[in-house]
Amino acid sequence: MMHNITLIYGDGIGKEVIASVKKIIDYSGADINWDIVEAGYSAQERYGTPLPDHVTDSIKKNRIALKGPVTTPIGKGFRSVNVALRKQLNLFANVRPIKSYDGVDSIHKNVDFVIVRENTEDLYSGVEHMVGEDAAESIKIITRKASERICRFAFELARKENRKKVTLVHKANIMKLSDGLFLNSGIKCSKEYEDIQFEEVIVDAMSMKLVQSPQDYSVIVAPNLYGDILSDLSAGLIGGLGLAPGANIGENIAVFEPVHGSAPDIAGKNIANPTSAILSGIMLLKYIGEVNRAETIEKALKEIFKDRAKCTEDLGGSLGTREFTQEIINQM
Ligand code: NAD
Repeated sequence: MMHNITLIYGDGIGKEVIASVKKIIDYSGADINWDIVEAGYSAQERYGTPLPDHVTDSIKKNRIALKGPVTTPIGKGFRSVNVALRKQLNLFANVRPIKSYDGVDSIHKNVDFVIVRENTEDLYSGVEHMVGEDAAESIKIITRKASERICRFAFELARKENRKKVTLVHKANIMKLSDGLFLNSGIKCSKEYEDIQFEEVIVDAMSMKLVQSPQDYSVIVAPNLYGDILSDLSAGLIGGLGLAPGANIGENIAVFEPVHGSAPDIAGKNIANPTSAILSGIMLLKYIGEVNRAETIEKALKEIFKDRAKCTEDLGGSLGTREFTQEIINQM
């Protein structure tokens, strides 16, 4: 069956890592018609906006996209394309699997958990203003509707993937109302899922626990900002940002993208690790039902990881992005 999928290369290393995953998916034989559109800097230059309407229209039509990272200027310039996309398409769940692979030099082994990050509100709601000249306020918005929706999503994911525990992360001891609402939503949901263990952990303690014993976790559900920070921390546990895939999921719509950003420090040098993008592509293939092809690619990746020399520089190897991509194809 042919699938129409929106493809956005994005900025910086996005161009390299998305080219890699596209090549691998095409080689796998999956019948995909890529609808290639531009977002980010190149779109800004060509269309005067980093997120032209035809990009969101394409995703709305196809219901599935594969996306590279987009640069977000700090403090000035255009607002985050990512945040805008997630809001416009109501991609309320950000799913970030954290898995260690044999052979990869990482702080921890046998790690396998999924971070489910609320994707639409919290301090990302964009309600910010100056108060006079010397103070600024960013409003943290937490609603019962979005909190219950993301907690239910986390429990459903646990059930689907046969995971036994959901850990909710919060700071309700200090933000008693906003984080308190998030926590209470999780407690309420947990009563509907008695087959799954539920626990709650305060975000600062969670940071320590994740560093010490990440094997204790299976599904972690968090409000937007804690989820964002904990996912980079978690990527660090299993070998770095080059290994962390992600998916933004809404009702019958999904945008797959690596956790990492556009990495301007290494862009255009053929040294970026495309694994996060490839793992995001594997998630996409599974989502559209191409499970066998997804498993073939993952198996090839696992084989390559056993031989460090065949990896990219961030994993102690010496291969460039393109050469690593070719190794995977040779292995498939
Ligand atoms: P980053 O993730 O781009 O890079 C952080 C560090 O990790 C850098 O040293 C980089 O070289 C390294 N790194 C990242 N991906 C790698 C890979 N695949 N292989 C090897 N090394 C890798 O974070 P940043 O530098 O803070 O952000 C750069 C830009 O990306 C910013 O404009 C930010 O807003 C944007 N960003 C976009 C997204 C997205 O589009 N989803 C996500 C995060 C950051």
